[in-house]
Amino acid sequence: MLKVRNLRHVYPNGYQALNSIDLDVAEGEVVAIIGRSGAGKSTLLRCINGLERAASGELVCGGVDLMKASGAEVRELESRIGFIWQEYNLIERLSVMHNVLAGRLGRNQSQATWAFHFTKEDREIAVEALERVNMLHRAKFRADRLSGGEKQRVGIARAVAQQPTLILADEPVASLDPELAEQVMADLVRVARETGVATLINIHDVELASEFCDRFVAIAQGTVVYDGPADGITDDVLNRTYRFDRAPKVYGRTVLAEATKAAVRLDEEAARLLGEVDPKVDALAGGESVRGRR
Ligand code: ADP
Repeated sequence: MLKVRNLRHVYPNGYQALNSIDLDVAEGEVVAIIGRSGAGKSTLLRCINGLERAASGELVCGGVDLMKASGAEVRELESRIGFIWQEYNLIERLSVMHNVLAGRLGRNQSQATWAFHFTKEDREIAVEALERVNMLHRAKFRADRLSGGEKQRVGIARAVAQQPTLILADEPVASLDPELAEQVMADLVRVARETGVATLINIHDVELASEFCDRFVAIAQGTVVYDGPADGITDDVLNRTYRFDRAPKVYGRTVLAEATKAAVRLDEEAARLLGEVDPKVDALAGGESVRGRR
């Protein structure tokens, strides 16, 4: 389904976000991609669905060689890849049903569809997708009236309505509170398994991912540092994955709590230093403080 070899990606500013990624995903597999913020997880997903064009390596998705594909081939592939976004990316003023039908736009290129006149088949596909995530009762609601968990279920339904060969989810539950995150993650993985669609889930919460995913791929500095089952995620693997953060040897929600505390400590330290520096700058400048001028 997906074959990635020695993939490298360099952003226009010269930053090399992917150094060497090797990955194979079979049909129906559900894979958690973990790694610290900035490791290259989103970049990898964006290269796979053609939003970014990788610099070198091999990248074959659903039979399309993305390193050689034309623009039209990439667009065709995109229509077969369901993307689930952290911030849902729904059209807030439209109904739930229309948001899910939007998933059909890439698949059905008729002018009528672009005028939002969908076929009976499209509507049936959208209804079935909403049923899968238990959201059919909200079909007529405007998207902006939904809770975060409901919005992400609609995001999942929209991806399913594409009848995709691959689903890519970029931190799909990071904006939800822990209880909802667990429920939505359960829905996403259940739907992936029911439909047999290969699914890659970028997720920083290792604990949550291990409840639902059998296979983990850990990325650090644009390179795969672990690829294997959840029970192979040892302290050593976590150290290799998160060492550039100097993360504590705990993970999941605890890591986030620790990281937040560390950030607050740094902020306080910075404020203290600024407090010490300001009077000296004042004395040198002979007046107004640096902070006061901002
Ligand atoms: P992750 O999803 O693991 O948090 P990303 O793939 O978003 O990481 O980013 C990987 C690295 O690439 C980060 O250092 C990020 O700052 C950098 N990056 C992301 N997008 C761009 C861009 N458009 N231009 C330059 N650098 C980028």
